[in-house]
Amino acid sequence: MRVILLGAPGAGKGTVAKMLNAHDGSVQISTGDILRSAVAAGTALGKEAKGFMDSGALVPDSLIMGIMEHRLQEPDARKGFLLDGFPRTIPQAEALGAILKKLNIKLDLVVSLEVPREVILDRLTTRRTCSNGACQEIYNVKSKPPGPGDTCLKCGSPVIQRADETVEAISKRLDTYQAMTAPLIDYYRTSGVFFAIPNLVSKEAFEGIVKKLG
Ligand code: ADP
Repeated sequence: MRVILLGAPGAGKGTVAKMLNAHDGSVQISTGDILRSAVAAGTALGKEAKGFMDSGALVPDSLIMGIMEHRLQEPDARKGFLLDGFPRTIPQAEALGAILKKLNIKLDLVVSLEVPREVILDRLTTRRTCSNGACQEIYNVKSKPPGPGDTCLKCGSPVIQRADETVEAISKRLDTYQAMTAPLIDYYRTSGVFFAIPNLVSKEAFEGIVKKLG
């Protein structure tokens, strides 16, 4: 399947993408994960992106499009992809449209995960992430605690609170989302493949998407 997952930070895009990946092998492409790996590895991309990310701002479109133009053409994306956290601005959506056209690829669905702000704030302040750039397993202190001594149950690395998951950075990210990313809902609404999912738990959202795709 070829799906874009839209939604505020903490709406569940990553979790739903992982379920869809397990379902049919379509590869999850998360620009946030790619950027965090680059920061952890200290690459030139990581150095450029870090300041924007820590403050809750968006990384410039030019950097993101360089990454994605390349990523979408890797062999594993041929079977299908789940775009998680991209596109994030109208210019990114327009540039993505041009790339897909060039590659002769049609989107199956643009999913909008719609979750109220209070729910998001609670989820993000309790969220923890594996610090290993290659793992990045997500935990939640209330619903899915990490192992003893805050270690990852999958790889054993320390589990941390992301620098951009303090209350200030989260508020900034939600404001950035409203200003820059929410307009994508109207951009895609008339695309013929738009599918809004009201505040549902990730498993129900996943089931709704699979059913919709038939
Ligand atoms: P969340 O969806 O939880 O906010 P992500 O992991 O998707 O977090 O992204 C973390 C940070 O990485 C964002 O706050 C932003 O700085 C940067 N980022 C990720 N994807 C993009 C994108 N498509 N365009 C610009 N910046 C991005």
